[in-house]
Amino acid sequence: MSRYWSAFVHNLEPYVPGEQPKIANLIKLNTNENPYGPSPKVLEAIHFDVSDKLRLYPDPTSRELKEAIADFYKVNTANVFVGNGSDEVLGHIFHALFQHEPPLLFPDITYSFYPVYCQLYKIDYQTIPLTNDFQIDIADYLRDNGGIIFPNPNAPTGCLLALADIERLLKANTESVVVIDEAYIDFGGETAISLVDSYPNLIVTQTFSKSRSLAGMRIGFAVGHPDLIEALVRVKDSFNSYPLDSLATSAGVAAIKDDAYFRDTCNKVISSRDKLTASLNELGFEVLPSAANFIFTRHPAFDAADLAMKLRKEGIIVRHFNKRRIDQFLRITIGTPSENQHLLSVLDGLV
Ligand SMILES: *Cc1c(COP(=O)(O)O)cnc(C)c1O
Repeated sequence: MSRYWSAFVHNLEPYVPGEQPKIANLIKLNTNENPYGPSPKVLEAIHFDVSDKLRLYPDPTSRELKEAIADFYKVNTANVFVGNGSDEVLGHIFHALFQHEPPLLFPDITYSFYPVYCQLYKIDYQTIPLTNDFQIDIADYLRDNGGIIFPNPNAPTGCLLALADIERLLKANTESVVVIDEAYIDFGGETAISLVDSYPNLIVTQTFSKSRSLAGMRIGFAVGHPDLIEALVRVKDSFNSYPLDSLATSAGVAAIKDDAYFRDTCNKVISSRDKLTASLNELGFEVLPSAANFIFTRHPAFDAADLAMKLRKEGIIVRHFNKRRIDQFLRITIGTPSENQHLLSVLDGLV
């Protein structure tokens, strides 16, 4: 705190990301990173680009990456916006498209960055409670609003909505922008990108941080109607013309093009998730049905914060949210098979 701060900054409550401790041999299951490294072709592309050319500014439009994404999802480049991680893309979306009179709607239990953007951009919002079994019910969103956003699958629950439900929402809600944050869609869901041509108020965001193993590169993107994309470009070009550096752009192109590696690593994570879920059930844990690269779980007889602390003593970190309705849950990222096995054997000794 300092007298040089504005009153606005005094009152800001920033987002707190999961920690990145520098502890050797830690089993890190707290921030939903991919347990597998990026494609070898991505590493090759980055190495190739480490050259004298780094003296030049990158392409401010990241054209090559937008083209690779557009090819992959069979849309036009005019439908694609790229940014420095999807957090930045989401920030621009809030800034450009959600500053309207009626409140923005999102679930009570969801990605905790959303209320932070609302505070930063002075957007009024209303949270909509998940159902008793932690699901999003589309019917609850059919009311006057200045926009709607939720992740699919939702975070930190991992629960998935069917594409038909998203379409039902879009059919009913035509007067405001609907954003589907698909950070985890590649682990078992069906993307809503196929609906972008039919619904001019839909934006789908995705990230290279999870399913494409590139959290360290910071690459995210949005797909939507060209008019919505233009709004994002206006905000971006009023803020930072070069959000993606040249290494990130090349890495992103190589990652999109190595489809075989992508599918293989996603499938490994999915099969590990299903095994881990079955084993946790055997230990008496309740696990919400997950379509993500993490699970959300509670044990009826053991306190979640206490379990998290005991796991930590054993060198395993998971995420615990000290928040109403979910304070008895742990969010556990799917690790490698040996990490998951180690987690299970430690939990077996604790419950
Ligand atoms: C991880 C995550 C993001 C942000 O991803 P980055 O591209 O790494 O910024 C956005 N939304 C949700 C729901 C996430 O879990």
